[in-house]
Amino acid sequence: MTPYEFDTLAVRAGIARSQFNEHSEALYLTSSFVFESAAQAAARFSGEEEGNVYARFSNPTVTAMQQRLAALEGAEACVATASGMSAILSLAMATLQAGDHIVASTGLFGATQQLFGTILAKFGVETSFVPATDLAAYRAAVRPRTRLFFVETPSNPLTEVIDIAAVAEIAHAAGAILAVDNCFCTPALQRPLELGADVVVHSATKYLDGQGRVLGGAVAGAKPVVDEVLKFLRTAGPSISPFNAWVILKGLETLRIRMEAQSASALELAGWLERQPGVVRVHYPGLASHPQHALAKRQQKSGGAIFSFEVAGGRERAWQVVDGTRMISITANLGDTKTTITHPASTTHGRISAEAREAAGISEGLLRVAVGLESLEDLRADLARGLSA
Ligand SMILES: *Cc1c(COP(=O)(O)O)cnc(C)c1O
Repeated sequence: MTPYEFDTLAVRAGIARSQFNEHSEALYLTSSFVFESAAQAAARFSGEEEGNVYARFSNPTVTAMQQRLAALEGAEACVATASGMSAILSLAMATLQAGDHIVASTGLFGATQQLFGTILAKFGVETSFVPATDLAAYRAAVRPRTRLFFVETPSNPLTEVIDIAAVAEIAHAAGAILAVDNCFCTPALQRPLELGADVVVHSATKYLDGQGRVLGGAVAGAKPVVDEVLKFLRTAGPSISPFNAWVILKGLETLRIRMEAQSASALELAGWLERQPGVVRVHYPGLASHPQHALAKRQQKSGGAIFSFEVAGGRERAWQVVDGTRMISITANLGDTKTTITHPASTTHGRISAEAREAAGISEGLLRVAVGLESLEDLRADLARGLSA
């Protein structure tokens, strides 16, 4: 394809019009496809002829979404999955076998930690979790059977920023691939493949849809890896519904504009919170006070739409702040047009032991905000209401 700019690809990549020449992308709700002859059926099944067979393998709406996301990530290939977790599971199943080893950053999404630490462990795949920003720890964790490095940047909820290019170098020196969970930044703000990562995984449930409507996921990157993931998907079946793919396909059209607006509000709110009495600390890569601010400026287009902050007074005070807001949604979800607030220690990180939480820096006074598209003034007023509760 002609090297169009990001904004053009976001609305035009992946279009394949039907005989009706529809302008907006059609939704193909069909689980199977018919053939013109027995010979064509055979050719399609054997892979001799390209084309759709059955929606567990491919569907035109899903293909359009995959092509559009691949274009935005600058990826050779992309495969969509039923959810973000099934994208991560499919990547692991496609690239690892019993006896293999993963090096993963701490601060991963909770279900990802569970998947690596308990479920994959049952099948003989071990994971070493290393402090997210400690490059020497990644190097020291390498074993002869290390096959996969897996990081999430910025991390949740402390927004630690990981040097993707540096970790890619360590992974490649170890003969492993690097996968980056690009859920928080999306390709609108960060393109890990350009920095040396081999694959990107997504929870499309978050910013790619952007409006909190459907579950979805994706693996994008080098064709040999994505082809293996597709083989797993064809057999094991965590494929995305065409309807969900269509919603995400249309969500991608406004991705850059949403991410920019939501990030701009997040920067304003984070800077304002830093000056409020009773706020001990604000974690946001867009602030000069962030320990990896310089790296974030190199690696991301902006600080993103998520920040966390710590109030003095522990859990009791943090809950007061949450309950004192009136408009912001009290939910652990993120990546929506509606702003959300959550208390990680009692929700997303509630199942982790208190000591492990403390070690990870997730204090009882910590709150995480995922900024949406409401008016900045209304958001500031609502947080001020919470803080004065
Ligand atoms: C939500 C999330 C996931 C899991 O995605 P689902 O679509 O809920 O399965 C993975 N990684 C990150 C960073 C997430 O926020």
